Amino acid sequence: MTDREMSHDDDTPERTTIPGTELGGMFPRAFQKEYVTITRGEGHYVWDADGNRYLDAIAGNQNVNIGHGRSEVAAAAREQLERLEYTSSMLFANEPAMAYTETIAEFTPAEFETAWLVSSGSEANESAVKMARQYHYERGNTEKYKVIAREPSYHGNTGIAMALSGFPARKTKMQPLFDDWPKISAGTPYRCAHCDGDGGRACGIRCADELEAAILEEGPDTVAAFIAEPVTGAANAAAAPHDGYFERIREICDEYDVLFIVDEVMAGFGRTGENFAIEHWDVTPDIITSAKGMSGGYSPIGGTMPHRRIAEVFEDVEDGFQHGHTYCFNPASAAIGTAVLQYMSDNDLVANARDVGGYLRERCEEFYEYDFVGDVRGKGLMLGVEFVGDRETKEPLASTGSEFQSLLFEAGLDAGVLTYPSGGHVAGDRGDHTLITPPLTIDRDAADEIVERMHTTFQQVESEI
Ligand code: PMP
Repeated sequence: MTDREMSHDDDTPERTTIPGTELGGMFPRAFQKEYVTITRGEGHYVWDADGNRYLDAIAGNQNVNIGHGRSEVAAAAREQLERLEYTSSMLFANEPAMAYTETIAEFTPAEFETAWLVSSGSEANESAVKMARQYHYERGNTEKYKVIAREPSYHGNTGIAMALSGFPARKTKMQPLFDDWPKISAGTPYRCAHCDGDGGRACGIRCADELEAAILEEGPDTVAAFIAEPVTGAANAAAAPHDGYFERIREICDEYDVLFIVDEVMAGFGRTGENFAIEHWDVTPDIITSAKGMSGGYSPIGGTMPHRRIAEVFEDVEDGFQHGHTYCFNPASAAIGTAVLQYMSDNDLVANARDVGGYLRERCEEFYEYDFVGDVRGKGLMLGVEFVGDRETKEPLASTGSEFQSLLFEAGLDAGVLTYPSGGHVAGDRGDHTLITPPLTIDRDAADEIVERMHTTFQQVESEI
């Protein structure tokens, strides 16, 4: 294969695309779309079938945290697959899963000692809700089942996870399939419901108090849990709440015997420069969910990690946790997860995410030179840019939605960088943003390269909107 190196000042390269109607036997994500085929990855780059190289500034789908093509992980997978690819966790113990969950327990905050392993972020959140529900049930609080969430938010595409998600664009066509569980606003400064973004800690408390109002409205005896992404992903491009928010949330949850679940599917396992994003605040949740970075993309893995006081309630339950899948605690996935965590600790990737992320965050301030950039935000290597039609009023772009998001993605491909356009966070169907979430392995030179290629991308977008 010839790797045609692209630099930001290249002309638009040749790129073969395949219509959604011709993807072999695939029922495609969208029949109407044209797809570039990715054939190879190494470190923070991927290559398409024409040999074009792209800087993977979104780490696959915010999951390839250790970079592409790590032979250590391939070797661990091969060894385990040859020894024992599968055994049922309902019937047997398996050594890779025992070892992996012990390693996870060392990585999670104190008193998080066990992990329930599944195959995706959606399943991790479904498991957390069912764990919260059964926790209350076993303690005699059989009426507690509702889970309050935030808007905007994304917690996954399965039934309960969709009910939790405050992301109308991904739900509307499916209704009335999902219960629309109660939502409070997300408490993030840009587009805060209570202040102009400058309300600080006082506004953090005011936003969190929406949870108390929602619990009282629903009836405290019916509310099992509250779920939040400490740093929001696809629903709001790396937005985090005001200071003081999560501390007040913790107080409210304690007062009403409501479990606090943090969805760290994207933010967890080092992405924000702490092992878990909630550790940016002095707050201990009751359940942590995670997925993406756990396996670095090398296998489908998700996890639900309860605090000891939650796990203990299940110790006396004769028929156990009323939940489970065929692929829970999969030995091959567990061996891969262990190798990924080993790679992270050998290369000190959480500290690197903090250091290089801080540098990249500063450089991203340069993007304010484009009038359509409204907000630059994020922590560690979980960064986001929000686009607007008017920076003063924060009015979304006139071309908001798929038109703008396709333009941005294509311009990124032309510039040799992968972007993650999303939106719909303003009034349910407007507003646009992108995540910048490269592998945690990047150095400052790679961060500079991301910025330069994003400049090229934004210049092209600016000339076309
Ligand atoms: N929660 C969050 C915060 C996510 O970012 C995602 C995936 N984007 C999910 C849940 C769902 O994870 P999965 O796609 O692995 O089911």
